[in-house]
Parts: sequence; C-alpha cells; structure tokens
Amino acid sequence: MRFSKFYAPTTKDAPKDATLPSHKFLVRAGFVNQYGSGLYNFLPMGKIVFDKIKNIVKEEMDASGANEIQMGVVTPAELWKQSGRYNAFGKELLRFHDRKNNDFVLGPTHEEVAVDIVRGNINSYKQLPLHLYQITTKFRDEGRPRYGLLRGREFTMKDGYSFHDSKECMKKEFENMEATYRRIFNRLGLNFRAVDADSGAIGGSGSKEFMVLADNGEDDIVVCSSCDYAANIEAASRAKKTTIAETPEADMAKFHTPNCGTISEVAEFFKIDEFYTVKAVIKKAIYEDSEEVVLFFVRGDDTLQETKAQNACGALELVDASEEEVKAAGLVAGSCGPFGLPENINFFIDSELKDEANLICGANEHEYHNVGMSMLNFNKSRYKDLVEVRAGDICTCCGSKLEVTKGIEVGHIFQLGQKYADAMGATFLDENGKAQPFYMGCYGIGVSRLVAVMIEASHDDKGCIWNRQTTPFDLDIIISNIKNEDELKFGENIYNSLKNEGYNVILDDRKDRFGPKIKDFELIGFPYALIVGKGLKDGNVELVDRKTLEKRPLHVDEVESKIRELLA
Ligand code: ATP
Ligand code: MG
Repeated sequence: MRFSKFYAPTTKDAPKDATLPSHKFLVRAGFVNQYGSGLYNFLPMGKIVFDKIKNIVKEEMDASGANEIQMGVVTPAELWKQSGRYNAFGKELLRFHDRKNNDFVLGPTHEEVAVDIVRGNINSYKQLPLHLYQITTKFRDEGRPRYGLLRGREFTMKDGYSFHDSKECMKKEFENMEATYRRIFNRLGLNFRAVDADSGAIGGSGSKEFMVLADNGEDDIVVCSSCDYAANIEAASRAKKTTIAETPEADMAKFHTPNCGTISEVAEFFKIDEFYTVKAVIKKAIYEDSEEVVLFFVRGDDTLQETKAQNACGALELVDASEEEVKAAGLVAGSCGPFGLPENINFFIDSELKDEANLICGANEHEYHNVGMSMLNFNKSRYKDLVEVRAGDICTCCGSKLEVTKGIEVGHIFQLGQKYADAMGATFLDENGKAQPFYMGCYGIGVSRLVAVMIEASHDDKGCIWNRQTTPFDLDIIISNIKNEDELKFGENIYNSLKNEGYNVILDDRKDRFGPKIKDFELIGFPYALIVGKGLKDGNVELVDRKTLEKRPLHVDEVESKIRELLA
C-alpha cells in the first residue's frame, strides 16, 4: 500500500470526551471515526485490524467444530416475547415498529433467533450436538456509551449458540469453548484471565468471563495471590470473615443512640469494632411491572455488592430509594435493622451473618439501636451472598490472600441449560422417544472491542504499538524527501520487492516533510519503520523499532536480507 493513496486521516486533537489511550489514539491515528453517540466507522486502517482479529476468531471457531452462519440484526419482537425477554431485557434493547405496526428489536444478542433456527428442524438426539456461530453487528442502547470502541452502542460480536441432548454434553462444549477462547486470546498476544462470572440478563447457570488485565478496565476482578482462583467481583466469594477485635458482650437490649446515623458513629458510640454492627442498605428494586423498597443487611465493615443484591431479589435494576419512598415504606433511615421491620418489607441478610451473635443493629425506631442481637430464626431464603470481596480477604480455595485488579471483558461463555428452549418450545426426541427441550450454551467475544483492547494493552505516550498479529502493516518505508530522486528510487525498489514477496509493507511516499511522517509512524504504531533519508548517499538507511523507538543503521546491501529476517 502507498500512503499517498491511503485514507488514514491523522490529527493532533483527541476527541473531547476521550479519556482512555485506545479511544484517543484510534481516533487520532485515523483507525475509526465517530459519527454519533456510541457509533463508529472503521476507516481503512481500522478495517484491516478488525479483519485480522475477526479472522483469528473465525479460524479458531471453525477449528472448534462450530458452523458459521449469519443472522439478521432486525429481529421480530415476537421471538423475544416467546422467551420472556422482550420486557425483561430493559432499556438496552432498542424496540421499534414498522409501517404495519409490527414490533421489532435490534438484536443485542441472538439466543432467540438461534433457537428459532433449529426449532422444528432438529428433532432427534441423533442430530445433536450442534454449534452455530456468527460474527456480526449487535446493537445495545447502552446507558453510558463511552471509551470509544470499548463500549459502543453498535458493535461487532462473535456469538455462538450450541444445542445438546444432555447437561454433560453442554458442559463438554463449554470446556471446548473455554479452550478455544484461550487459543484466540493467546494468538492475539493478550494477558488475560478466565474468571467466574455473574450471568446477567442472558441468564442460565455457570458462566466464565475472559478478562484482559488492564489498568483502565471497567471490571473489578478478584484473583488469588497463590492459587488459580479468579472471579469477577460480581460473582467472587471469600472465606467467611473473622476478626481479632474484642467481642462486645451484652444482653439483648435497646439503647438510645442520639446522632448515630452511620456505622462509624454507632461503633464509636458503643466503643466496638464495626465488624459487630449490622449495616442496612436501602434500595428500590425495579421489576418487570412493579417496584418496591428492599433492604439489604451486611456487616458494618462490609460493602454491599450491587449485582449480588440485584440477583438476591431478582430485580431488573436497583436504584437508590428517595427519602419519601423510604418513609412511605415505614422505614427509619439511620436506624434500620432486621428485627422488628414493618411486616411487608422485603429484606435480605448476608450469609456470613447467619447464626452470628453479639450484633448491634438499628431498632427501626428513630435514634435507637438494639445490642446483643443474634441472627437466628430468619427464613433460610433471606440469607444470600451480598458482600463485595476486598483485597486482603481470604481465598476459599487455598486460604491465601485475595487481590483485586482491573480487567476488560473480551469474552463471556455461558451454560444456559434448558431455559430458552423450554420457554420457546424447542424440543427434540431423546433416546426413549420422549420430547425434551434442548440444553444450550452461548458464547460471545467482543470483536470490535478487541481492536481497542489491543491498544489498551500496548501503547505509549506517542501512540499505538501494534503487535505482528494485528498490525495493519508490518513495516513503514518512509521516504524522507520524495523530491530526492535517489531516495525515491531506493524506497520504491525495496517496497516493490518486499511487496512482491508477499510482505505486508506500506510506503510513505507522501509529499510531506519527514517530521509529520515519523510522527504518523509513532502515532499509528506499525512495528517497524525503515527511514530512507540523507544517509543514503553514504549507503546507509535506518531501521526503527516502534516498541523501543531504537534506531539501528543498516547498510543498503544488507537491508533486504535483514528485513526478511525481521519479518519472517
Ligand atoms: P459488559 O459487562 O462489558 O457490558 P456484557 O456482559 O453485557 O458486557 P455479553 O452480553 O457477555 O457482554 O457480550 C459478549 C461480549 O460482547 C462481551 O464480552 C464484550 O466483549 C462485548 N460487548 C458487550 N457489550 C459491548 C459494547 N457495548 N461495546 C462493545 N463490545 C461489547
Ligand atoms: Mg453489557
């Protein structure tokens, strides 16, 4: 490729809302351009990278035994009504209707369509298992589209759906996909971990996320300092917390506690460790067609994990309850406790508090707390894992300390079980001739997100640093001054000869000065540049390594062989 004929509009200015390196550099270097909130075009250079990533994903998916298909983006709402997700999916689902007033959605994921494809066509266990996948556009009306390609509204996903006659077979494919995803992310050269995950709106049981470790990740992941345990903070567990703090021994009693609205004030008042207090978090839970105020109780020195809380009550969303709503529910903010709550209040208690004694909780009366309380006699279903695991907590697998790091989710694999097939009436006949809903798995990779992830994982303050697997071109041959005939001729010759041998090279033959050309090389981030400049008259050119920015002189006679060696 010749730069002079290539559309790669580089600029000095980053988008105003860009905070992350990948967002800034991919726009500044002309890989993508934004044309609306969460909407991006891939320009020629971006398209090359995108296709390279897509091909790696495709090669490994094909090798795994899955069949590639292509589903439409527009999906009749009817299918989503059959699965029950038309209402349940929430605001990310873009709903619209056509001129005949038929309802449609823009597919944010395709479980329903996949079930519809096999429903009625796969009738026997003999035709199973089957795995269908695609690499296509998704649309999610994200609440906060941001970080460029990392969280777009329109984006490209590799999504696969597998169908099985048993749970065992479904689990086998889950393992096959875990291995396949590991191969994909290894080939991309990414530093990742597979972590236990929450299943979110997709549902089902058992899921794993693939997280690329990156400081700018939106996800918190809990990893063990010594064993393999790793989990999204939304699904992380820890060994039950203990304390060496002195136990506040007291008989059950009610105390007047003026000005004690917070845990630290309560702990200070009673001169005890916060460990022995019970914190109430009041939320408003939004369900499909109702809402209610819900209470969550955790230890005073713990934090409520919102996703766990949401799963506990089965809400579509949890939001803060207003002062009026708290009052209307009959609750006393600052003095809420699990004992003596208004009768119809829904509440959950962290499992670690079960059967614990010597606790201090709000008495549900303004400026009163109960001391010496024991968490007994609550229905088993009230106890749920609600706490956010923290750095320093103890690993359930090996007893070592847990750490918390940041990650970017690049893939998610799920064991769905029979949920979708059951809801949508998709069955096969098993060995005994009995109709059964399919067991399913589903598996996603954020292909367009990966373009940005490559740069989050590899950049410096000058720009992108692509690896050989994903770079748009391996070598940038920069002709310092195209008016110099010798430079032009030398550059053209070496470009043509490498190109003819199949090397992936670009020739910077633009009429610009050298300064902007080397700046573009640094910003775009090709692995190497060959500078054909003034030294040529003495028989010398220079090779630049983008990663280290080191310059190495090469004699014209050895240039081609050295480059062949480098790019081999
Ligand atoms: P997130 O928690 O980041 O919103 P998700 O759990 O909603 O992701 P899945 O439904 O599992 O994502 O989708 C599969 C993959 O698609 C994700 O692992 C991610 O890489 C990618 N993806 C999801 N949402 C977006 C988005 N808004 N923009 C780009 N890629 C996305
Ligand atoms: Mg999401």
